[in-house]
Amino acid sequence: MAQQLDPETREALIARLRFYRDLGLTEFYRRPIDESENVSAADLTSETLDQDSRVASQPAFQQHSQEDQPIPPRKPLPTAPEIGVSVPLADCAAALQLIRDEIGDCTRCALHKGRNKLVFGDGSPTARLMFVGEGPGADEDAQGLPFVGRAGQLLNNMIGAMGLKREEVYIANVVKCRPPGNRTPEPEEANTCSQFLFRQIDVVRPEVIVALGATAATYLLGQRQPLAGLRGRVHSFRGTKLIVTYHPAYLLRDPRQKKEAWADLQIAMRELGLKAPGKG
Ligand code: URA
Repeated sequence: MAQQLDPETREALIARLRFYRDLGLTEFYRRPIDESENVSAADLTSETLDQDSRVASQPAFQQHSQEDQPIPPRKPLPTAPEIGVSVPLADCAAALQLIRDEIGDCTRCALHKGRNKLVFGDGSPTARLMFVGEGPGADEDAQGLPFVGRAGQLLNNMIGAMGLKREEVYIANVVKCRPPGNRTPEPEEANTCSQFLFRQIDVVRPEVIVALGATAATYLLGQRQPLAGLRGRVHSFRGTKLIVTYHPAYLLRDPRQKKEAWADLQIAMRELGLKAPGKG
């Protein structure tokens, strides 16, 4: 007969399962238990699954007014995780790996056909600041890492100007496979893939997200609006502060806008309590 867990282990296991459930990770498998391990989690599994059906029915993005331009519907998200609860780095790294494993050798949309490497994301699993771009370009597709080409070099400089190192932030894209000829992802592609981005955000739980360009802004905010109307203020993505700025590739084409982008990054810095290096 299965043995009971001691109350402390049971509580810890329930908390861990809730954490994974909030990330949208709902598939748990029971391995045959080695009796010497002394563990039985049978009652946890049913509780977790019951709660899944409840969170899955909650609509996402109710806060937008009817005047907002709708983008095609997407699947509802699970409830946002609590903000301010600190989760150990190893748990966040493991949760990100679970999402990566679930994506697997993805064929969920047509973009997989032209892909060399899937670009999952890069950086600290517990970053306070996250950047979201549109999708991999040729360099990213070749290396499997986001923002490693010319636009990436500019992004690295922008991060440095904020007094941060690239490895201290987290970087991901709306789509994880390179669109042919670097075209904008189709709504079907972006809606399919962004579910995984949202789960990455729920794991990292940054204090501030910077959306780089119109595609990132559109799919994070759930509405299509000109970039000009979105810049210069703080929005919210599931309780996390969201700032919209120009995409680095656009800044490479029109460097005069760098001043505007820096003003946006300063909003992010203010929200994070950061001072620019050399500004005391
Ligand atoms: N542009 C993006 O939007 N993302 C990348 O990773 C690289 C270029």
